[in-house]
Amino acid sequence: MRQPLIAGNWKMNGTKASVRQLLAGIVDGAGAITHSEIAVCPPFPFLQMAEEALAGSPVRLGAQNLSAEEGGAFTGEVSAAMLADFGCRYVICGHSERRALYGEDDAIIAAKLAAAQSKGLTAILCVGETLQERERGDTDKVIADQLEGIVTLRGIEAFGVIELAYEPVWAIGTGMTATPAQAQEVHAFIRERLAGQSQAIAQKIRILYGGSMKGSNAPDLLAQPDIDGGLIGGASLNADEFLAIARAGDEAAA
Ligand code: PEP
Repeated sequence: MRQPLIAGNWKMNGTKASVRQLLAGIVDGAGAITHSEIAVCPPFPFLQMAEEALAGSPVRLGAQNLSAEEGGAFTGEVSAAMLADFGCRYVICGHSERRALYGEDDAIIAAKLAAAQSKGLTAILCVGETLQERERGDTDKVIADQLEGIVTLRGIEAFGVIELAYEPVWAIGTGMTATPAQAQEVHAFIRERLAGQSQAIAQKIRILYGGSMKGSNAPDLLAQPDIDGGLIGGASLNADEFLAIARAGDEAAA
């Protein structure tokens, strides 16, 4: 049984005041979460505040991005070592916004996975197809290529130390959620692909669903056998909504 992971991707949102309030709300409600693991990924400037607010709580800290470089003359970048120093456990890699807006390809993503692993961070690797790709019937091929790109560069072992997130691009921030059946189909496909190379890794790896997940649709999504949690964007900016998703994770795992 894989423990559900409910991770909030706050993206580029928040002020010191709103982040303080959001963290307090999540910490307050987290004690009542029995089975799900909860994590939040604030923007970099709020990591220290988050580290302090989450101390002593079960809520884990993550970051939204990292540099593939160790350190040095890389203006504007943030290293894996820095994230580890601020108490991060997780870091999101290969989010579709970074692939589409910042040109991150398999080579960059594979290098970031290696950087994360070298400092003991667990990457949450995102994969997913665009609406056009889905409508062309290419969903499986796109996902298989995204997985294979990392296998080629880092080996199947790379999947033994990360979490995956299936995030259909057309469902991110659009309010258009994949149906539980659509999501389950792709999650099962991902697990089957990995099983072709390592049964042990395929059974162990958590595959989160991401794309307009909220309190109302989370129970049906999280009840699917191959959906092991959620990567939550918009709904993670509201403590009650985020905690409702974590409760749905509890119910699915109970
Ligand atoms: C995301 O960006 O990872 C995401 C899932 O966003 P949203 O929940 O807002 O669709």
